[in-house]
Amino acid sequence: MRKTITRIKAIVKNNKVTLSWYKNNTLFNDASTDEFDNFRIYRKEEDFVFGEDYEEFFLNNDGTDAKLIFQGSLEASNNRKYMFEDDSVAIGLTYSYFIQTKTSCRMGPVPVRVRDPEVWWSYEKMMSRLRNLCEQSNGLARLSVCGRTVKGRDIPCLEVGSGSKTLGFVGLIHGGESGPELIIPAISTLLDKSPGLFQDIRIVAIPAVNIDAREEMAQGTPWYIRTNHQGVDLNRNFPAQWETIEYGYGLDSSDTSAVTYRGSQPASAPETQAVMSVFESNPPDIVFSFHWLASICGLPAGASISAKDDAEYALKCKNIIKSFAKGFSPDLDFAEHWFAFFCTAGSLSSWLYDFGKIPGFDLEQVDNQDAKISRVDQTDRALILDYQERHTNALKEVMIELAKT
Ligand SMILES: [Zn+2]
Repeated sequence: MRKTITRIKAIVKNNKVTLSWYKNNTLFNDASTDEFDNFRIYRKEEDFVFGEDYEEFFLNNDGTDAKLIFQGSLEASNNRKYMFEDDSVAIGLTYSYFIQTKTSCRMGPVPVRVRDPEVWWSYEKMMSRLRNLCEQSNGLARLSVCGRTVKGRDIPCLEVGSGSKTLGFVGLIHGGESGPELIIPAISTLLDKSPGLFQDIRIVAIPAVNIDAREEMAQGTPWYIRTNHQGVDLNRNFPAQWETIEYGYGLDSSDTSAVTYRGSQPASAPETQAVMSVFESNPPDIVFSFHWLASICGLPAGASISAKDDAEYALKCKNIIKSFAKGFSPDLDFAEHWFAFFCTAGSLSSWLYDFGKIPGFDLEQVDNQDAKISRVDQTDRALILDYQERHTNALKEVMIELAKT
């Protein structure tokens, strides 16, 4: 059936869904049409399961079981664009919307998931938190731009302190994972409570690399997004062991349709280049890269697989993770499985190892209750607060140990 409208979109902001759409190409110039005099908008709550369901979940859905939530006329801007705001939505739920004009079918589905903006920070919120941190740092913190995403968003880089040892932080190499919500509060709290730590240690942090994917998810894309806007897995795109094709997750990193696609050539993605430029000009002593899912991560920490036979490097890495774990899980004795070599060819950790034997870690999550919650995108404010505190304490322990070396 011919559709009467086009470019239907749903965007979440401040716990409201805004739908927008346009009259189609042929009808918008037809002054005599009454096709758009009476809109009907339908909504269906979906039993979408994050991490199991993806875009296909919403296919073959004609909306016949969706509920009518609005009927009436709407004003078109520029004689073509319509908008409708739905504030009767709930955090943690996934919806499909359908729009019907006078003679059309129910057009959709337009899927959207409403996420807590305190758990999934938007780009705007992250930038505002970074600016506040700098303003309250008594000149200790500086903000710069280290590159641009594929969609042209500035990638911020935060530098704190001027010590001779450098600690690097990288967040959101993968859009649906973790970074700004943990890195920024940890640095901010320590600046406030233990500013003396920054005399010996300088922090260089890129809290969000794959900002484009994260912004899509913060604005309501229901499914997990791993790659950048070019479809490149940034943690396979670094120039490290490029001759090795990775087959993890049943995928092939040289396959353009795989979510682990490494890109057309080493460091082809602008986001990868941004991270490299920061660490090439500020060679770090240690780097933590934040992964796992839905804004939290912790242990295990993974280093490059290619370093697994380097005993000296392994010992150095393990000691760093012991300090990290002392702050992160103070009630538990160090467990051997909290440190492992699992970072692949093309990962940031592998590049850091090749670049200068720099201890670089991907932070993931052991299979505990927190993992079960975050894996299905049910991370709540209490869990985020718990992980912010754990990462603050972990950072403090790592800074104290690094200052001694
Ligand atoms: Zn990841």
